[in-house]
Amino acid sequence: MNTLLELKNINLTYQTLKTETEAIKDVSFSVENGEFISIVGPSGCGKTTILSMIAGLLPPSSGQIVIDGEIVSKVSTNVGYMFQRDNLFEWLNVYQNVMIGPKINHKKNCLSSDKLKSLLKKYGLSGFEKARPSELSGGMRQRVSLIRTLALNPKILLLDEPFSALDYQTRLSVQNDIHQIIKSEHKTAILVTHDISEAISMSDKIIVLTKRPGTIKKIIDIDFDKNLTPLERRNNILFNSYFKSLWEELQ
Ligand code: ADP
Ligand code: MG
Repeated sequence: MNTLLELKNINLTYQTLKTETEAIKDVSFSVENGEFISIVGPSGCGKTTILSMIAGLLPPSSGQIVIDGEIVSKVSTNVGYMFQRDNLFEWLNVYQNVMIGPKINHKKNCLSSDKLKSLLKKYGLSGFEKARPSELSGGMRQRVSLIRTLALNPKILLLDEPFSALDYQTRLSVQNDIHQIIKSEHKTAILVTHDISEAISMSDKIIVLTKRPGTIKKIIDIDFDKNLTPLERRNNILFNSYFKSLWEELQ
């Protein structure tokens, strides 16, 4: 595997007229091509801030972010962002929603409409191409949202608590689906979550942050049998010991 993303000694201080908030302090880590990593830590510790910097939306106060050998200095087309709310356009149908990126970008580096149609089919949305988002279940909406993000052919997917608005039952099955899509499309992903079980069930590696200013407390390798799905991981004998060590780190 080769390194796709590198954060080198990243610091970020938010400046407002009256105050300065040190949000991130000396954070360094790297992500290999095809890896799925999670970032966990208490609310307000700087998780979203890290994703914004990787996406090129927010320049670090100091330090460097490198994607595929290039220093990130503006909004990066190498990166796709998926949020807690799926942000689907209610007035467009499913197919129009996933085509919106390629349309705006005049298809530059984007997936073809044939490829997008086949992704919709492959991931359980055939027959729903013409449906409006309001006709879909929460899980289907998140799959459409992910396929829409994939349409721009990003090298890295950033997922900021994308499942937290779903009820528990739906969340488990959507985690499974999203994990399968990301792995079978060979994408690299960074998931931000405050749900320890979610992080263990989906990731190859978990980065634990301290409370603000966020620094790296620990990086834990998660080592299940390669073929296990997130749901199967939850029933695996290793799951509880990972849970226990993460729980202790977060106390
Ligand atoms: P998390 O995603 O881990 O909950 P954030 O990255 O959103 O945390 O925020 C980290 C810290 O930076 C918080 O204390 C937050 O209040 C502060 N912060 C976030 N965005 C801004 C901003 N635009 N201006 C000033 N402070 C901010
Ligand atoms: Mg956040």
